Amino acid sequence: MTRLEDLLTASAERSPGSTALVGPDGVETLSYADLDALTNRIASMLVDRGVAPGDRVGVLAAKTPWTIASLIGTLKAGGVYVPVDSASPAARVARIVRSAEPTVLLADATAETLVDGLVDEGLPDLTVGSLESPLEGERFTTAFAAGDIAALDPTRPDVGKDPLAHLLFTSGSTGIPKGVMITHDMVSAFVDWALGHFGTKPGDRISGHPPLHFDLSTFDIYATLAAGAELHLVPASLGLDARRTAAFIRDRELTQWFSVPSVLTYLARFDAVGQDDFPALERLLWCGEVLPTPILAHWMRKLPRVRFTNLYGPTEATIASSYYDVPSVPEDESVPVPIGRPCDGESLVVLDEGREAAVGEIGELYIGGVGLSPGYWRDQEKTDAAFVTGPDGERIYKTGDLARADADGVVHFLGRTDSQIKSRGYRIELGEIETAVNTVSGVRECAVVGVDLGGFEGTTICCAYSVTEGAELPVNDMRRAVGTLVPRYMVPAKWLVLDELPKNVNGKIDRPVLRERFRPAPKESE
Ligand code: AMP
Repeated sequence: MTRLEDLLTASAERSPGSTALVGPDGVETLSYADLDALTNRIASMLVDRGVAPGDRVGVLAAKTPWTIASLIGTLKAGGVYVPVDSASPAARVARIVRSAEPTVLLADATAETLVDGLVDEGLPDLTVGSLESPLEGERFTTAFAAGDIAALDPTRPDVGKDPLAHLLFTSGSTGIPKGVMITHDMVSAFVDWALGHFGTKPGDRISGHPPLHFDLSTFDIYATLAAGAELHLVPASLGLDARRTAAFIRDRELTQWFSVPSVLTYLARFDAVGQDDFPALERLLWCGEVLPTPILAHWMRKLPRVRFTNLYGPTEATIASSYYDVPSVPEDESVPVPIGRPCDGESLVVLDEGREAAVGEIGELYIGGVGLSPGYWRDQEKTDAAFVTGPDGERIYKTGDLARADADGVVHFLGRTDSQIKSRGYRIELGEIETAVNTVSGVRECAVVGVDLGGFEGTTICCAYSVTEGAELPVNDMRRAVGTLVPRYMVPAKWLVLDELPKNVNGKIDRPVLRERFRPAPKESE
């Protein structure tokens, strides 16, 4: 079994002076030797503060070299890290913290208010380590700060190991985020395949775009460290600035870019990529949702020397389970590119009512093999519902995706069987938003639907609601209230206040009709 922290140590032994991490500002860098020593010190501090093998360490911090070091430091302490989305409101973070029960929470200045909010949410006894100078905050005690860590001896502590590496909390349909358990083995199997497939090498300059609570970031981190390459952390502030994002790829001379499709769509829509731009770029990868084919074709025409790969997979099966290297600019831009074939050690099975679907037949996609998670953190019921036994007796994960396999064994993605959506790459259960809306006082009924309105974000989140008699709940108040319950990216972009929600013959909310209500009316001439 390869331990993820050992990937760093092995590269540090091979090339201690090479750059491992470059911060979002381009100034803060850590060499392999420095990162190895820093992570040893963080591990010693965590052990000293009571972290035992298998204990969780929560991380509420911006994506910086120090934050990455704290993840690996946790592994070196035998712990399991839990990166928490610091864009989430305190109520949601508190639910995650209560579930993960971290022995220590590592935070930085960006999380000060949030940590105070956790105290308000009834979590007063957190041990909070600061990744910087001691944090200010009326009601939380700083257990230790960056200066205390720097003073420690850089010897790696000798501690027991746990198979779990991290917990990643994803949106849950009942309003409670689900913690997917990720082991060292799951990630290292994917990294092994990826290094071979993409030929990642020392000196490669790799983007670190997705947030740390999103499993795509684990590919960037561990494939970079295993290869002895450089990880360039993309500033979150670039978010929606297409030109600055393009300049980042150009100026950092990145050899690999990996992100969710909405970023690529955004850059294409703003025409931020020049002909034969990014001369250092060797490959461009995306994962997480469908990249519209016209956008892919635009990129491929602009960058004819670059290799383009679609990666597909859910968090529950680690980063990606299948890949498709796009051989040439798609001729028919109305056809989506396939999600391809399984990565080494993985299997994709399309089932129709429990049996393997025939070639070309649509069914639900299940995944088996080396990437499979042991399940959801402390939730046997959800684990048993999602991780089932396949036709050949193998353990498989029910993705909720619709797919078909063609005669060459290439798999095509066709949509979802449920109300999970992707918006700007974020995995969102519409049920989680509905649960939040329903808790707002004055709401009689609500429905949240995803509608493709052609925006770069992919699916637009739309909410219709009615209010109880006598109540007043204008959209602005509603938006504000929901914003205190779910992260910003889950707050519906479009709203409708109705006297009554449309119902189908069974008396259920008619979601297809509602979706149509959110589409703009066709123009007179159409
Ligand atoms: P996540 O756990 O956030 O990675 O989300 C997993 C889900 O995202 C999958 O079950 C799919 O619905 C969707 N997904 C991931 N990759 C792709 C892709 N390349 N094409 C289409 N959908 C994708």
